[in-house]
Amino acid sequence: MSLRRLLVANRGEIAVRVIRACRALGIEAVAAVSEADKGSLPARLADRAVCVGPPRSAQSYLNRQALLATAIGTGCDSVHPGYGFLSENAAFAAACEDAGLTFVGPRSETVREMGDKLSARRLAERHGVPVVPGGTAPGGPADAVAVAERLGYPVLIKAAAGGGGRGIRVVHEPDELPAAFTGAAAEAEVAFGDGTLYVERYVAQGRHLEVQVFGDGKGEVLHLGERDCSLQRRYQKIVEEAPATGVPEDIRTRARDAAVRLATNIGYRQAGTVEFIVDQDRGEFYFLEMNTRIQVEHPVTEQITGIDLVQLQLRLAGGEPLALGQRDVGFAGHAIECRITAERPADGFRPSPGTITGWRPPYGPGIRLDTHCEPGYRVPPYYDSMLAKLIVHGRDRADATARTLAALADFEIDGIDTNLAFLRAVLAHPDFAADRITTRWVDDAMAKGEIRMPIPAEENR
Ligand code: ADP
Ligand code: ADP
Ligand code: MG
Repeated sequence: MSLRRLLVANRGEIAVRVIRACRALGIEAVAAVSEADKGSLPARLADRAVCVGPPRSAQSYLNRQALLATAIGTGCDSVHPGYGFLSENAAFAAACEDAGLTFVGPRSETVREMGDKLSARRLAERHGVPVVPGGTAPGGPADAVAVAERLGYPVLIKAAAGGGGRGIRVVHEPDELPAAFTGAAAEAEVAFGDGTLYVERYVAQGRHLEVQVFGDGKGEVLHLGERDCSLQRRYQKIVEEAPATGVPEDIRTRARDAAVRLATNIGYRQAGTVEFIVDQDRGEFYFLEMNTRIQVEHPVTEQITGIDLVQLQLRLAGGEPLALGQRDVGFAGHAIECRITAERPADGFRPSPGTITGWRPPYGPGIRLDTHCEPGYRVPPYYDSMLAKLIVHGRDRADATARTLAALADFEIDGIDTNLAFLRAVLAHPDFAADRITTRWVDDAMAKGEIRMPIPAEENR
């Protein structure tokens, strides 16, 4: 049994990644593309590309009707949603189920339960997984103030429907809370169509620890180890690593157990990630959320386990059993991923779309580049600014860091601004070498002027 033809309902590097996995398994890939992506690498690599709408995501990559009609019209038996876009949209998963298409992800009810961060927290608590101390504020700002009093400041206000680091605000003082709450509710309503908020204790010395799980939907769940994604800016990941060598072994073990317990108890199907925040001051870890999809940083896990996660997704979706047990999962060396973006770090990380006139990526032992970019590619202004993921594997963390620095030094991209110089400065920082990164490290180091970047050549003119 196998999938025969799959609709890739995404764009960019993850579309390329899924198409390559299809090819390896003899599955035909149909790329759903917007007008802006008609000539893109995924469109050319796929067996067939179908335009699903205008450039804007709302009319193309988020257009459920167009994507379903394309899947059915091209004779697909399955849909891979990638990450972002419709990957965590329960209505889309349900529509695929209703149309007899295999959605490469969990059951739509699981997507729904985990998509709402409040219901996800309740599920975690029910299965004995510690959650960040916090509470809801059904009565509005006054309730939020009461919750914050109980927790102590600073607190975070979070959107129940948030994602991708959006819909999160830190509040330091009681006076700031009512206005922050009202503003955040309005923003969440616009961004996610749901203004529900909740309040959590802000973990100041936090590390982002996450566990990759894989379930067969029948109660069998494996973990593929953990990742450290503490290197973030504004709650968004920039550099990710596996294994999480900066987190004490006992916390890593307990987090793995907690993730497997949660996934097992809900009969989880497919790839998923349970995210935690480690409170280094208290020596505790807490559940943040579960992402019911393949994640951006899945390659670091692939590099240290030798397991192709997207192929595993496709095999499972085709009806094969999970052909491996926990004892078959081994870990070797250390892997680091850098998200390379079309942004101007010197200018508040403003997106810098445009044409890539020169593209000279690094090569060498342990170097992997997941990308849809090529010389002459025009980075459209409509989507996420990620150009590529540089994934480097080494025998240990120091080796992987040295190789990453060398690879970043070799990488040349002309025509648009990128964060390459920023990444070089970050990885060269002594705190990175010492594995002393917390989720606020980038913001603090930048405020202190510790991340020095050469001024782009054009500004010297
Ligand atoms: P990961 O969780 O895989 O590390 P991110 O959190 O960076 O990755 O999200 C992956 C992509 O999906 C990003 O482009 C992000 O902007 C987008 N994304 C994730 N969740 C949402 C959401 N709820 N709404 C909008 N975009 C989202
Ligand atoms: P998203 O769905 O946007 O990924 P998360 O709940 O995963 O939302 O949080 C994103 C990031 O925000 C985390 O990786 C972490 O750095 C930070 N964060 C979230 N909750 C807390 C908290 N209670 N204290 C400190 N930082 C937090
Ligand atoms: Mg998250």
